[in-house]
Amino acid sequence: MQIKLQFLGAVQNVTGSRHFLEANGTRILVDCGLYQERQFRARNWDPFPVDPKKINAVLLTHAHLDHCGLLPKLVKEGFSGKIYCTPATAEIAKIILLDAAKIQEEDAEHKRKRHERQGRKGPYPEVPLYTTEDAEACFPLFEHVEYRESVNLGDGMETTFYDAGHVLGSSIIRVKVRQDSQERIILFSGDIGRPDRPIVCDPTVFDYADYVLIESTYGNRIHEEVADVEKTMGDVINAAIKAGGNIIVPSFALERSQEVLYYINELRLKNKIPEFKIFLDSPMASKITKVFKHHPELFDKEMTDYIKRHKSPFDLPGLQMAGTADESKAINSIKDSIMVIAGSGMCTGGRVKHHLVNNISNPKNTIMFVGYQAVGTLGRSIVDGIKEVRILGEKRKVEAKIIRIHGFSAHADRDELLDWLKEMEAPPRGVFVVHGETESARSFGNYVIKQTGWNVTVPEYQDEIVLD
Ligand SMILES: [Zn+2]
Repeated sequence: MQIKLQFLGAVQNVTGSRHFLEANGTRILVDCGLYQERQFRARNWDPFPVDPKKINAVLLTHAHLDHCGLLPKLVKEGFSGKIYCTPATAEIAKIILLDAAKIQEEDAEHKRKRHERQGRKGPYPEVPLYTTEDAEACFPLFEHVEYRESVNLGDGMETTFYDAGHVLGSSIIRVKVRQDSQERIILFSGDIGRPDRPIVCDPTVFDYADYVLIESTYGNRIHEEVADVEKTMGDVINAAIKAGGNIIVPSFALERSQEVLYYINELRLKNKIPEFKIFLDSPMASKITKVFKHHPELFDKEMTDYIKRHKSPFDLPGLQMAGTADESKAINSIKDSIMVIAGSGMCTGGRVKHHLVNNISNPKNTIMFVGYQAVGTLGRSIVDGIKEVRILGEKRKVEAKIIRIHGFSAHADRDELLDWLKEMEAPPRGVFVVHGETESARSFGNYVIKQTGWNVTVPEYQDEIVLD
């Protein structure tokens, strides 16, 4: 067998997923993600290690920016093949890429103006990484693949997508390569979800693969035992309403916002909380929620049962999706207790900053965090108990209640990843640990070796391997 595998991103780091596979003259890329960690962002500007014109197809696991965010650059530099993904992934990726392009354009403009003021020229790029037009140029290349439908990629190479249970439409991708009379199966885990998450199904498990690329975002951690997300959220909401305050929820647009609505719906159905106004104040989250509404076939059993009883969390009584900036501003003048779900999830930008300015200094209000807060973000400072913040140039005392609800992770933890691997009935010829920081990837690799005795590797950036 002669199969070439090259690790072009998310190796000993979490973002920038890109894996290159070549066999029988067909060249494919699994994911084409943006690097988001500060120390790796320069790589977004590097020329592609493989000539985009010579890549036949892209297989896209899911619509998170660190998996799809470099597609516009790939297309701009000559890729013209198909981008295979599930229909939900295609719909969400389009929303996310347009948003990313807008941010790139705005950032470039800011830099240009700043450099002009300072009388500087470069070396920082004053042109966007890609523009809205570049993002739109990808759209005709998207080719829908349903779960478990096999697609022929070329001579002796086919692929099948399976539900990864991570975000709506997310996939684990299986590639089968045939050479002479032999066959090899390579499994790309993408991001693996967790069992019993709201809305999405459990991750698909596999009993056989020759080679596995497995993510390791939480490869060295066990998720805290979830006390009870639903009960905690119910208590927070009731306390805030009793106090006559608002609840501000900084949230990611994909999956997390919809999960918050899911829990509120459940609490409502059980009469645990009263009816109150909820604003999804994020144009991106609103658009993505519409994609969820288009794809009820992707929901798990509990969610499907809700929908059957006409109780969709996305049609909650009192739920309003704010669109324009004026609609967003109008939320401030509402006197009742309300909930505002707005981006960005770590308070680094977006409309949530305006809501924080207006709400964070009133002790009646609650800021409810439902996601990971990275070091160095405004969200992290607030969660860590900072007494005074500067938001949008305004100083504000932090007087509101700060609540952090655990249990929302969309990634499997160390033991869940191992459980997923151990569904294999025979040891794979090789396991490659990717999509985790060095410490996390190595620790998980060693753990798998200790638990199974399998052949496990933690590759380096741009490592090239011939699979036999
Ligand atoms: Zn993801």
